[in-house]
Amino acid sequence: MRIGVLALQGAFIEHIQMLTSLGAECVEVRSIADLNGLDGLVLPGGESTAQGKLLRATGLWAPLREGILAGLPVFGTCAGLILLSATIANDDRRHLATMDIETERNAYGRQLGSFFTYADFAGERIPMSFIRAPYIRRVGQGVEVLSVVDGRIVAARQCNMLVTAFHPEITDSTAVHRYFLDMVKANKA
Ligand code: GLN
Repeated sequence: MRIGVLALQGAFIEHIQMLTSLGAECVEVRSIADLNGLDGLVLPGGESTAQGKLLRATGLWAPLREGILAGLPVFGTCAGLILLSATIANDDRRHLATMDIETERNAYGRQLGSFFTYADFAGERIPMSFIRAPYIRRVGQGVEVLSVVDGRIVAARQCNMLVTAFHPEITDSTAVHRYFLDMVKANKA
């Protein structure tokens, strides 16, 4: 499986390390040519405003959006979740906006900007690391909720799109990446 990891800004190395340990071949995506032959795509955490600007500056915005709308499996963590959100409650910007969710950025306030907890993801108890994280305020029809922490939705899936508000790539649990690779496998079959 050939997985592209958007490498314009943010925490992409950790995703590459985890996916490689699970047997995937990873490609750092920085230009349109890097999109050739991908079976899946990861949008890492970082800063969504910066990433959104870079997506447009590199010309990646349109082909990425078309690919996702055509069914390319995609996994967005944190800022990546914000890039995929149809609406952002506290921000007028829209980025790829392919997933029917409404997100709130920096949703945990200053003191709780970063925290660590354990919660269920798709039925498995896993460590979750939140870093100035968003949460999902609303999901549309056809969006499956995969994790809830303190009454807030922090992981969800809609068809080929998987998002987490937390950073599974910096913990020792591979559950979320395995879940994503299963989506990629199913799509390829
Ligand atoms: N706060 C960042 C944003 O709004 C997301 C933080 C992260 O990706 N860890 O884009």
